Amino acid sequence: MNRTDVDTQDRLPGGAIGVPRAVLFDMDGVLYDSMPAHAIAWSTAATRFGLCMSPEEAYLHEGRTGSGTINILAQRHWGRNATEEELQRIYAEKSRIFNNQPKALPMPGARQLLEALRDMGLVIVLVTGSAQHSLLDRLNADYPGIFETHRMVTAFDVVHGKPHPEPYLMGLQRAGVEAAEAVVVENAPLGVEAAHAAGIFTYAINTGPLPDSVLWQAGADCVVPKDGGFEAVLQDITHRLRRSLPPRPSHRPV
Ligand code: CA
Repeated sequence: MNRTDVDTQDRLPGGAIGVPRAVLFDMDGVLYDSMPAHAIAWSTAATRFGLCMSPEEAYLHEGRTGSGTINILAQRHWGRNATEEELQRIYAEKSRIFNNQPKALPMPGARQLLEALRDMGLVIVLVTGSAQHSLLDRLNADYPGIFETHRMVTAFDVVHGKPHPEPYLMGLQRAGVEAAEAVVVENAPLGVEAAHAAGIFTYAINTGPLPDSVLWQAGADCVVPKDGGFEAVLQDITHRLRRSLPPRPSHRPV
């Protein structure tokens, strides 16, 4: 959790935090080990349409809406945005390839963290840039009793998407809390940037190939490794909740 490898000048101001009442979760790379499949699908689909993108670059765009990613590639290769038809065809091809990949497994440790937070009475909200029904439809089976429909923000709800703060600001609304009463669990630099811009304390679990420094520079308040990271987040939230408890009243003998 130490950020000794990043100069403080590189980092944006951190999210303020009070007593956590809600935890906002990203999906890909946090709840599901799905990013390797997304990276292959993006790279393969983009190349088929003449838009070169390496699997590694896909990790840098993680969290962006599909149209946002395609337009960055289109501007680079074609000098213009993609047409609506191109957007639909490329994203459909990306989705087709993704759905033919081996089924992405739930991230080890995620369910235990979610259940512990729920049992502590915290509100849990999903905030994802994904439009992949194949994963969204699995949430209730893989994480039963955790996510409620009215407490989800997906690609279907947003205009801007990450790294704009919009998805996390919507997440705060769905949780019914202020930024200082929430924390975010993210894994990707653009998602961290979005949460940070929304003024929310942000844990970054580094489940991908990028160095920790990228997550710190995006504005993470705490970076934890894939192995043991969920336990570390739970310990930290538990610590913050306990610390906020009012002092026990003294019992003066009468
Ligand atoms: Ca993610």
